[in-house]
Amino acid sequence: MIKKCLLPLLVLCALLLTACEHEKPAAPKTQPDVTTAAPAPELSFPPDSGPRPKFDGNRAMQYVKEIVAYGPRPLNSPSHKKVEDYFLAHLKSDTVENDVFTAATPEGKLPVHNIIAKFPGAKDGIIVLASHYDTNYPLRNTSYVGANDCGSSSALLLEIANQLRGRPNDGYSIWLVWDDAEEAIKPDGSGGTPNEMPFEQDSLYGIKHLAEKWDADGTLKKIKVFLLADMIGDADLNIDRDGNSTAWLEDLIYEAASRLGYQSHFFGRTLSGVDDDHIPFVRRGVPSADLIDFNYGYNDVFWHTTQDTVDKLSPKSLEIIGTTILETIDILNKMNPLPPK
Ligand SMILES: [Zn+2]
Repeated sequence: MIKKCLLPLLVLCALLLTACEHEKPAAPKTQPDVTTAAPAPELSFPPDSGPRPKFDGNRAMQYVKEIVAYGPRPLNSPSHKKVEDYFLAHLKSDTVENDVFTAATPEGKLPVHNIIAKFPGAKDGIIVLASHYDTNYPLRNTSYVGANDCGSSSALLLEIANQLRGRPNDGYSIWLVWDDAEEAIKPDGSGGTPNEMPFEQDSLYGIKHLAEKWDADGTLKKIKVFLLADMIGDADLNIDRDGNSTAWLEDLIYEAASRLGYQSHFFGRTLSGVDDDHIPFVRRGVPSADLIDFNYGYNDVFWHTTQDTVDKLSPKSLEIIGTTILETIDILNKMNPLPPK
């Protein structure tokens, strides 16, 4: 996760409500952006008929431990290369595309490697599920290992690959994306002359490249949904509803979680807008959702610190997100047509 940009809406609402009750201000209040968004159309979901999805939370947790054991894995580091090879070894029997390019960053030109594993389906269209795998760059010379912030979601995708591999799929094709260089190189804006770069440009390098490439080559038109997982391993799991995500898709994810009995882990809090890897797809009109728990320890105290370690995580949280994503895909496969973009 690159940064926290806006206060939780819940907190804002609570403050506004308090002000309203006690002071009764005459002037109209300023409302956060999210409350002015049009309500999502009522969705009608297909019946809950399929078997419960399988996902091995313990195996996914083992993957997190193996990824973290490589140490800090920032862009352009030896351990980054090792974790790339680790993913490719897991995916050796799958159809894999390597999207390699050079990004101009405040630290000069750096190599960026996106990894895409493609699992074909009978239906015309693609569901993309992404996670970044680079650890925080400014913390590269510390003991920071990003167990939750990229370790958990990268491992989640490996276990989802296990579940998809070798099974007939009569739904949409599923593409798993381990995207690179999500983290900002100089998030404090200290790029300096001549490499000065606004924060918005200094982040999401890998996924922006993929979105541009798929836009240019026509792939984007085939993408039905873009799902993102980020910071989903927290033992105290509370996925936030995100104002930048597509409302109907968030509703659908909640329906999927409810079918599994996991709804209490979802959307207790609403963030008015998370800047994350889904943004390049949101901007291109692809229905997109960020599955993110942005309260990692009280007040997010473990986020982007050396305390982001595996002892804070739980196999159960990985299982909750893994099965909810697979159930979401199952519902999407049965909805015809999907809601308009
Ligand atoms: Zn991060």
